[in-house]
Amino acid sequence: MHEVGIAQSILTIVEKEADKSGASNVKRVKLIVGEFTGVVKESLEFALDIVKKNTSAQNAEFIIETVKLKTYCQECDKTFIGKDDAHFLCPDCSGILGIVEGKELKIEFIDVE
Ligand SMILES: [Zn+2]
Repeated sequence: MHEVGIAQSILTIVEKEADKSGASNVKRVKLIVGEFTGVVKESLEFALDIVKKNTSAQNAEFIIETVKLKTYCQECDKTFIGKDDAHFLCPDCSGILGIVEGKELKIEFIDVE
């Protein structure tokens, strides 16, 4: 379960940010997780619950927003949503699709007090 490692990295960043602003308590953290990262939302929530113990984020609420995979064909100027295009080939022209969204894993905001 690589979500534990990810949760630990997130916590490290969150604690650093809280430190920087002199806050003792992290209230809310919003995360953006792309579908194509392979991160399972429930597993990440579970992992965060474990790693946040005894940190300034122990009472924080983690909001996880998942972003669907979005691919784009330059030839047809078309955008495709969802992970059906597993081979990343355009269904119309068989061209190679580029990934527009869905690879991201980032912290959108951190609320501290
Ligand atoms: Zn195409």
